Amino acid sequence: MNVNSEEWVENPTRIAYFSMEIALKSEIPTYSGGLGILAGDTLRAFADLNIPATAFTLLDEQGYFKQTIDEDGNQTENPDPWDPRKYCKKLDVKISLKLYDRTVNITAWQYDITSEKGFTIPVILLDSNLPENNEYDKRLTSQLYGGDSEYRLCQEAILGIGGIKVLRALHLQPTIYHMNEGHAALLAMELLEIYQKIRDDDTFEDELEHVKRKCVFTSHTPVAAGHDRFSYDLVKKVLGTGKHLELLERLGGKDELNMTLLGLNLSKYVNGVAKKHGEVSREMFPGYEIHAITNGVHSKTWTSDSFQNLFNEYISTWKGDPFMLRTALTLPNDKVWEAHVQAKKDLIDYVNLMSKTKFEYDTFTIGFARRMTQYKQPTLLFKDLERLKKISEKTRIQVILSGKAHPHDFAGKDFIRELVEDTKKLTGSVNCIFISGYSMDIAKKITSGVDLWLNTPLKPQEASGTSGMKAAHNGVPNFSVLDGWWLEGHAEGITGWSIGDKTNDNDEQKDLNELYDKLENKIIPMYYNDKNSWINIMKNGIAYNAAYFNTHRMAQQYALNAYLL
Ligand SMILES: *Cc1c(COP(=O)(O)O)cnc(C)c1O
Repeated sequence: MNVNSEEWVENPTRIAYFSMEIALKSEIPTYSGGLGILAGDTLRAFADLNIPATAFTLLDEQGYFKQTIDEDGNQTENPDPWDPRKYCKKLDVKISLKLYDRTVNITAWQYDITSEKGFTIPVILLDSNLPENNEYDKRLTSQLYGGDSEYRLCQEAILGIGGIKVLRALHLQPTIYHMNEGHAALLAMELLEIYQKIRDDDTFEDELEHVKRKCVFTSHTPVAAGHDRFSYDLVKKVLGTGKHLELLERLGGKDELNMTLLGLNLSKYVNGVAKKHGEVSREMFPGYEIHAITNGVHSKTWTSDSFQNLFNEYISTWKGDPFMLRTALTLPNDKVWEAHVQAKKDLIDYVNLMSKTKFEYDTFTIGFARRMTQYKQPTLLFKDLERLKKISEKTRIQVILSGKAHPHDFAGKDFIRELVEDTKKLTGSVNCIFISGYSMDIAKKITSGVDLWLNTPLKPQEASGTSGMKAAHNGVPNFSVLDGWWLEGHAEGITGWSIGDKTNDNDEQKDLNELYDKLENKIIPMYYNDKNSWINIMKNGIAYNAAYFNTHRMAQQYALNAYLL
């Protein structure tokens, strides 16, 4: 389907989905982490389920960044350009918006996400790289999360305000505008302006209600510091001091513009991305009705070839109907193990191309890969290297790591240095590697190829987490702190294992002891000595968790609870 109003008229509900990042494909670097993966997986599920939607994001033709890590663990960042002409078609559309009192021109590209049955979700990528723009403006849509907060505000203005203008230029008439995180919240201000022009009066009250009825807002961050905020000096500089500044202060915060607050005030339906995250958000924003729709992953995208073959054979309808994965309990144990051995072999072969030491096929392998940032506590496993060495002397283990730190996240970069240092210190005892350039492809290889997926976030900061759901799709048991989705997916000794309790208290020493104790006394012995019990846990992970924590279930909840309301 092209973006074309006639076809749209046939669809009763039309969703315009706005997200600063969308992971379209591994090699198109328009994503930095979980938010972008979630957006891409959501749209892939919309396509499978024939949920009519068009998505909006920025072109980011210079990508997020290419990560290189030197011998000492120092991360350097370089542009990661991709060629839109190879994947997208250029749309014959041009709009302009006002930034800094000057005109910024925007054009757009279209990338199609098409399901196996042929239903397409168009993704519109906004592009400011036009000859009539000045040099600064040309680069405003070039780099995901690049530059400073001024650059960020310009990007959010282009996504929200520019996105609505492009949508109208394409004659789309959505009934719902979904803001995936606060970055897109300015779209609601643009809608307000449009409605006010139509009515031509000077109060906003009716328009506010009208806009709210059409907007849905999803928050992804459970910590106040994680919410996007801008000073009003900056807002005035970039967006001007026009008549809406007062309204912005009323809806987005008096002292600074808080994009989450703006989204909350302009949406009829607001949700967090796991039940716990809903709770935490309600505490953070008292007086707002905040729901929860727990994240998922797109089943087909995140299932390795060997498990796809297994599912095709025994659960033939799983791709279109991932709920059927609950029947995984009846899969033959030897077939499940064979599929895992194959996925693990693919990972180990890949790792051995880069590693000086040789990783082994039949050694117990722990995986940890995610954005490198403080709350993810990436170094917890290595806090007591002697203990880890001792565990590995008894029963051998190896560890595979990966992840990017945002260029301005110096603590995150320190973690990478520390992990690379620890890797060296463990040489001869525990094979350990940090793989650079974390991407969708690498995430899929690691989450499907290791024996155990580890997650150790600081509670309650993991809004949901999705990599553990990818592991579950591949029969890889989770071993995780009880936060985010794991509070819903964990059944001790059945789908995996917990670290710590359900409270928000983080006791590092206690958690660390439990981490090592369970590894040494429960998990590793079961892996080496009781394969049947181990394989049952693998199957439980598929049946209880993959069957539920997928974007088919999630998209249906959005459709029913948020869009049709
Ligand atoms: C799945 C994924 C993430 C998100 O993982 P979390 O466990 O939610 O932190 C981040 N980056 C990439 C490349 C991914 O594939």
